[in-house]
Order: sequence, then structure tokens, then C-alpha cells
Amino acid sequence: MCGIVAYIGNREATPILLEGLKRLEYRGYDSAGLAVVNGGLKVCRAVGRVSVLEERVEGDGGFTGTLGLAHTRWATHGSVTEANAHPHHDERNGIALVHNGIIENYAALKTYLQERGHVFKSETDTEVLTRLIGELYDGDLESAVQAALREVTGAYAIAVICEREPDSLVVARKGSPLIVGIGSDEYIIASDPSAIVAHAAQALTLEDYNVVKVTREGFRSSTLDNIPLTPKVQQLELDLEQIELGSYSHYMQKEIFEQPNALRNTLRGRLDRAEGRVVLGGVSAFAKEIVKARRFILTAQGTALHSAMIGEYLLEDLAKVPTECEYASEFRYRNPIIEDGTVVVAVSQSGETADTLSALHEAHERGALALGVVNVVGSTIARETDAGIYLRVGPEIGVASTKAFTGQVAVLTLLAMFVARRRFMSPDDCADLIRELEAIPGKIETILAGAERIREVTEKHIERENWLFLGRGYNYPVAMEGALKLKEISYIHAEGMPAAEMKHGPIALINDGMPAVFLANRGRQYDKVMSNISEVKSRGGHIIAVATEGDQNIRSLADDVLYVPECPECLSPMLTVVPLQLMAYYAAVARGHDVDKPRNLAKSVTVE
Ligand code: GLU
Repeated sequence: MCGIVAYIGNREATPILLEGLKRLEYRGYDSAGLAVVNGGLKVCRAVGRVSVLEERVEGDGGFTGTLGLAHTRWATHGSVTEANAHPHHDERNGIALVHNGIIENYAALKTYLQERGHVFKSETDTEVLTRLIGELYDGDLESAVQAALREVTGAYAIAVICEREPDSLVVARKGSPLIVGIGSDEYIIASDPSAIVAHAAQALTLEDYNVVKVTREGFRSSTLDNIPLTPKVQQLELDLEQIELGSYSHYMQKEIFEQPNALRNTLRGRLDRAEGRVVLGGVSAFAKEIVKARRFILTAQGTALHSAMIGEYLLEDLAKVPTECEYASEFRYRNPIIEDGTVVVAVSQSGETADTLSALHEAHERGALALGVVNVVGSTIARETDAGIYLRVGPEIGVASTKAFTGQVAVLTLLAMFVARRRFMSPDDCADLIRELEAIPGKIETILAGAERIREVTEKHIERENWLFLGRGYNYPVAMEGALKLKEISYIHAEGMPAAEMKHGPIALINDGMPAVFLANRGRQYDKVMSNISEVKSRGGHIIAVATEGDQNIRSLADDVLYVPECPECLSPMLTVVPLQLMAYYAAVARGHDVDKPRNLAKSVTVE
């Protein structure tokens, strides 16, 4: 679930491992650890930040050697303690292992191992796998790892070292990402390319059930049954500048401000205004099936679910195809009906979201055409879908997703236009919408230029523990997203809902001064939103309205107005969400929270 870094080469491993862990910190974690082989095995673990681990390792002074591995843990089995932190350790053979994921059958394996005399020092599923490898070890780490993995079910990315084999490192994956970065006479293995880019330009991406034995001279890839595989080495599509903070204080802030350019990248080459059509290379091989779809099912979790909800409005409104949007975790387990002509679209920033991946497998099994709307190139969802459209917004490091949200909405807009144009939309109407879409990045720039005022409005309310976010139509999912952002990083309780729903119960919560954020930009339901604002205002709520530039009328009702430029209603979420992202950011900063490392959260949730 969290971070793995491992190193084999001719340089000192420890500084490289610690630097790698720091690059992975943004993913969220609760403890960290490191092990090196130099004569014997040396292990160090610590609860809390990588800096705590670093102090201990440096204080010890004995963590030298050119082979090692390290981990940031996001606890799933067993509480956050030093004993549960990785690396786990099999003392009998001097084996150390780090693991991302969950070993589902760990309980049965643990009983088996206890019967064979193993004494467990932690509550984790990971220690069970470590000791199983130890149990099966007879002088060859690679084959012990293969044999152990044949016995486990669940998800894993692992790296393993053994003090008896100082010249090799064994890694494997199933369901959790892992890549081997290829340097000059050295290899850096990590669960995320950001820990590798400083050292390697090329990398090997492991597929499920691949085991790779890495030595200083090269590597060998095989299946769990030891059948050799031909590894596919690729260029790493990331450069250091993209993942560095520059002049910003936090990644979330950087990514909010990157949105205009990120969206320009999303749209680049995909809009053909002259012909009035949208060009989507990634799905063109399936264009016929997509255009003839009888039903779309959009599935996702978290922020991606909110963009998928907007996708539902877009596909029905523009393309007139019946569309449903559902939490992947619910869709997967409710025995969904997939008829002929169903297209399932999985939306995920990382492309590794376990719930979404498992919904995708289910949909595939039932015969649906599966499309991915993903940011990370080459991620599992990108590889396992029939076709897809990349967001191209660049690496998103802040745990609270921002530019991936607007990127997803832009891509779903493109998908809806792609289908619409081949069904009912005239080239002229399509060209008009293209013109409006091209203007969105510039309009986001206008909103960002007013960030200071958004900060002032937010800071008036940071003492309040309950907020409401309300919107209708296209802006109902934006209200949900605004509430989620505030919850995630400022730990303020917030609810987002359709503005009309409020009077069916939640209105009872409104008390004097309670902040109620209304998405009140001009659109089909503007008058109805005005009525909802009046209802909240007359009960003492403090109204913060996101409204269309030039709307003076709203000033008579709202206490604070945050203006966004005019645009067609179907494109408005890409604008209206921006003030809400900034409000969440400024609230978290004002409350003194660590914006990029919110408590209990991980960047990509790779467990179900
Ligand atoms: N399931 C393992 C644990 O709880 C691994 C967690 C992780 O992916 O960080 O220790």
C-alpha cells in the first residue's frame, strides 16, 4: 500500500534508500524502516516520520553496505508500532523483507508456521510471508520466494534480501506496483517512479506474478514457477523537476496552480476545431463499440467518483446514452447486470486503486468493454483495460487530489463529445463547445489570480467544525468534492449534497453562522438554487456563494461571493471546483495541518 525502495550496486545504499523514502512520503504512511546487508543483516525501524528513522540510522553509524531495502508502512494488519513496521525479519536465515499490500491467507499460514516452531514478533501479515520464505529457504533466495508466493493469496509488492546472499536482491509483485530502475551498474527498485528518477532513466515494470532476481551485473525475470520471462525495459516518463516543489509551500498548492497548464496538456492534440470533432487516439480502435454503446457504467472511488458523477451528467446530456455512476467497491460485489453494449469506464488517478481494479475485472468477466481514465502511464488499470484516455496532468503528489480531478472531468467531457458528435451533435455545435473548452484553462487562471480573497473568506470560518456544500445538476458532484477536500486535509466535518436535499433533513443542522457553500453559478437551476440559499440564510447560515462573474443579484443573499468566469454549464465544474480546492487548502494551512501528509490517508489506495 505504501512505499518500497531497494538498492543493489556499488554505492552506499543507506543514503539512497532514505532519499527514496523521502520521495515517497507524500503517499502517506505511519512508520518506516530500513535494512542493509554488510557481513550480517542490520535492521532499523521507527514509528512516525522518515526523519526519525534517519536520525536513528545515522546515530548508529553501522548501516553501511551496498545492498539494502527500505519501507514506509500504511498499517493494514496490526497497529502502528515499531514491531509491526517493516522490514520483517527471519533470524534463522538472516532474511529481511518489505511488503506493500495484504496477504489474505496469512492466518492459516501463521498457524502452520507456529506449529513448525516459528515465534512471531509482530501482528502483521507481512511477517508471515517473511517466515514462510525462511521456512522454504535452502540456500537459494529466488526459489524460496517463488515457492512461498505460490502459497499466498492477496496482493503484494515485495523486496527481499538475505545475509547469506550479499550479491542479490529478489523482488516480486501481484496487484501492487513495483519497478526496477536501471542505473549504471546499479539498480534502484521502488513502488513509485518518483523514488527512482534521480538515478535511472530506464526501468522494468513488473507484471503480476513476476519474480525478478537483481544482481550487480543484471537481472533475471521469471514466473512463480521459475519459467524465464523476457523483461520489457521502458523509458521512465518523469523528470525530477516535475516532482519538486519549486517555489510552492505544498504539493497540493502547486498542483492547484498547475491546473491551467495541466488541462492544456489534457486537451492538446485532442480537439479538432476546424472539423468540429474530438480525436481520442487511445480509444479509436474501439470507436464503433463506444459510439454504439447502449449503456455506460462509470466506476471509481473518492475524488475520481465525483468526476465520474459529472461524467454521468455529461454522457447523458451531450451523448444521450443511459449512464450510471457507482462506487467501484459496491459495483464489484452486488452482482451487477452487464448487458450487451455496456461500456465500463474505470476512473483512477493512480491507476492502482484496488477497489476500481477489482470492479474492472468483474466487468470484464461479464463481457463489458472496459475503458480506463487514468493519469499514471502504464499503471495496472491502464494495462488491464481494453483502451483508455490518459489525463496527462503530470504526477500528482499531494494526497488530496486536485489537478487529477479537473483532468478527469476534462477527459470525460472529451469522451462525451466524442460519442455525441458521432450520434447527434452537429460539427458546428461541437466546434462551439471545443472553443469553450479551450477557454477553460485561461478562466482557471483568472480564478487563481483571486486566490488571496478566497483565503480571506476561508479564514473567517476556520473555527467552525461543520460546513455544508450544496449544488445542483453538474455542480452537485462539485459540492461533494468540496466537502471531501475540506474533510481530507483540514479535518473539518463537511457534507456535500444536492441543494434540494438539504430541506429533507440536513437543514436541521443549520445554526447561527454555520458556513454553507453554494455552487450558484448561472445555469438551468439558478433560480432554484437561489431559493435554497434563502432557506439556509433565514435559519442563520453564513452563505458563501460561488457565482458567475457579473451576477450582482446574488450579493443581496450571499454573505461572501466568490466569482468564476462565465462558461457553458456542462463545463462549469472545472471552474467552480477551483475556489473549493483553495478553501480546503487555506483552511488546512490556517489550522496548522501538514497539507501533503494528511492523517490516516494514503495517496493511492491499493487495498480493498
Ligand atoms: N499489510 C502490511 C502491514 O500491515 C503491509 C502494509 C503496507 O502496505 O504498507 O504491515
